[in-house]
Amino acid sequence: MLKAFKYRLKPTTQQAELFAKTFGCVRKVYNLMLHDRIESYKKHQDTGEKIKFPTPAQYKHEFLFLKEVDSLALANAQLHLNAAYRQFFQQPASGFPQWKSRKHPVQSYTTNNQHGTIAIKEGRYLKLPKTEPVRIKLHRQPQGVIKSATISLTACGKYFVSLLCEMNIPPKPKTGSVIGIDLGLTNFAISSDGVKIPNPRTLSKTAVTLAKAQRKLSRRAQHAKKDGRPLSESRNYQKQRILIAKLHEKVSNQRNDFLNKLSTDLINNHDVISVESLNVKGLVRNHKLARSLHDVSWSSFISKLTYKAAWYGKQVVQVERWFPSSQLCSACGHRGGKKALRIREWNCPSCGIHHDRDLNASLNIRAEGLRLLQGAETL
Ligand SMILES: [Zn+2]
Repeated sequence: MLKAFKYRLKPTTQQAELFAKTFGCVRKVYNLMLHDRIESYKKHQDTGEKIKFPTPAQYKHEFLFLKEVDSLALANAQLHLNAAYRQFFQQPASGFPQWKSRKHPVQSYTTNNQHGTIAIKEGRYLKLPKTEPVRIKLHRQPQGVIKSATISLTACGKYFVSLLCEMNIPPKPKTGSVIGIDLGLTNFAISSDGVKIPNPRTLSKTAVTLAKAQRKLSRRAQHAKKDGRPLSESRNYQKQRILIAKLHEKVSNQRNDFLNKLSTDLINNHDVISVESLNVKGLVRNHKLARSLHDVSWSSFISKLTYKAAWYGKQVVQVERWFPSSQLCSACGHRGGKKALRIREWNCPSCGIHHDRDLNASLNIRAEGLRLLQGAETL
């Protein structure tokens, strides 16, 4: 089992320079390989020539500076590109591999541990290839064997390392319980045992502050434009940009805490967790920012549930997006057709039972999850 442990890093100026150089080289190699793969594919279509898969090594003659950084970081760029292609072939809707941009809010690179090249030293240093040990804020000990390290720099200028460790994780005790979860907008989730899990208030408060801050940022951009100043020289614009980066980080931390607690709680208390696969709510009209926050939360929630289930010997079943969870009566199975979103409660025309829309949906998701699981077991 693989588990990640994340820590703050405090590099010296010199180390920060090396990190910046490595981020740049990884980005360069990634983009070169992506470019060459696209070109090779075009050629393949025109002439039938075999598709070539570029490797980082082939660029080192032309771009000598690539030799100065950790070669494993470059090798990982190749793996990341392959993964991006794989993802695209498996789920074309996820989009074609994208160019890596210098302007991306988070810059990062990944390197591997080769017989102790990555290690914690004296409880406050991290040994990494190509550099003197870097100061690390070790708020807890990593467990197991370190396989790789991902070094990242966020938009507010903070450095982090995520250590991916291989370890034995004992399964959690079985509870015999199966639960269905309906993901919502007003409430984050509604479970089939009747519990409504509200969106954390802190999160929505920060989201409002963030929206305001973003409007201010665009006003400042307009001012600078009117005065003919480039944004890089507009101090007020830059100040606001960093403030927004900090708010984004705050939102993301709050969301992570909330989703970690919720997913752990569900994994502890249930053996099977049935959820909708995403895009179910694709039709919901909502404020753009609020919407994107929800989208990120939902996909992150499902991914946390999925990997924790794998760690602890539990199961997550994803119910297909076309499953009419809000149309079916969970008591008798009567299918009543689509219901407008404003209809929060309804009576089943067939059996007469009174339904809360979301609770009914989560009961249907639970039943469908069980059905899928039993189908899979008899195969
Ligand atoms: Zn009914």
